[in-house]
Amino acid sequence: MSALHHDTNATVPGHNPDSTHFHCLIIGSGPAGYTAAIYAARAGLNPVMYTGMQPGGQLMITNDVENFPGYPNGINGPAMMADLQAQAERFGTDVRNGMVTKVDFSGWPHKIWVDEKKQFTADAVIISTGASAKWLGLPSEQRLNGLGVSACAVCDGFFYRNQKVIVVGGGDTAAEEASYLANICEHVTVLVRGDKMRASLFMQKRLKNLPNVTILWNTETVEVLGDEGVSGVRVRNRITSEETDLEATGFFVAIGHKPNTEVFADYIPLNEAGYIDTIKGSTYTNVPGVFACGDAQDMVYRQAVTAAGTGCMAALDAERWLTVKLTEVAELAETAATA
Ligand SMILES: Cc1cc2nc3c(=O)[nH]c(=O)nc-3n(C[C@H](O)[C@H](O)[C@H](O)COP(=O)(O)OP(=O)(O)OC[C@H]3O[C@@H](n4cnc5c(N)ncnc54)[C@H](O)[C@@H]3O)c2cc1C
Repeated sequence: MSALHHDTNATVPGHNPDSTHFHCLIIGSGPAGYTAAIYAARAGLNPVMYTGMQPGGQLMITNDVENFPGYPNGINGPAMMADLQAQAERFGTDVRNGMVTKVDFSGWPHKIWVDEKKQFTADAVIISTGASAKWLGLPSEQRLNGLGVSACAVCDGFFYRNQKVIVVGGGDTAAEEASYLANICEHVTVLVRGDKMRASLFMQKRLKNLPNVTILWNTETVEVLGDEGVSGVRVRNRITSEETDLEATGFFVAIGHKPNTEVFADYIPLNEAGYIDTIKGSTYTNVPGVFACGDAQDMVYRQAVTAAGTGCMAALDAERWLTVKLTEVAELAETAATA
């Protein structure tokens, strides 16, 4: 099947639900996916989106988004994602529930399996599968998530200005989060499991020079304390086994993120942390017609607005790529017909 088999029965808004071929498939329904959908739908690409295991993406688990431009009073995460979905659907995006469980990008059009059984083909694929923060796995951490427990200093640090916070982790993420928080908070305590940090020497040096940062070595979290919100953290020294309660109103888990990219690993190069490698300055991957945006390809910024920005880029890249590809296909068909 080729692009020429594009679903001509599709009506906008909405698509033929029986079609097994999509002009543009968007995988993932966070800010990147919905922004790509808005642009792709308005460009006439009739996008179909599969929402995955977390429809709406990471912002579905946060109450206050205060840094997305255009909301002077902030907005509730699920409300913002409902707005993005409504905007994408208004232009004809077909939003469907389902997980992409397998792909075959070895030929064209691309093959995609949803929920292990339904097989589709697509002329262009936009990957916006995001990333998930890693957590310690403590019940108290889960109970107080969003009530003082966070995995994003840039997102939530402002709520703890002039307060005492704790950061857990010893890598670059932890060093960056702690440095960021040190500018806003009264005091930052960093809990490091071992006797050294894995963060770059430059980051470590910067952190150690900050007057309001204390690093506790060989220290692990036993429990996050508090009922309605975080009031402190019980820690254990891994050498002496001594337990201490530290006072804090914010607990930032900075032990890394896991991009949701495994399903593409056989076809698309991932970096050492599992993020999709895109061609610099674009959303192109190494596979023609497959584009990646949002946190799935961004281990540096990881914000809703940057995800949305690259979602826009992916739709524009896809539209331009499809125009060239479909012209080539049409020319080949014409040559074959006249031969
Ligand atoms: C608690 C919390 C609070 C945050 N607060 C803020 C904030 O205030 N401001 C801010 O800018 N950023 C914030 N962030 C970060 C922000 O949420 C992310 O940067 C942003 O959501 C990334 O968007 P994305 O579209 O790339 O991916 P995500 O939002 O991660 O969405 C990924 C989507 O892909 C889907 N998916 C994954 N795998 C598959 C698959 N195989 N098949 C189909 N679908 C799949 C998922 O179901 C999901 O819909 C916060 C993050 C968290 C966790």
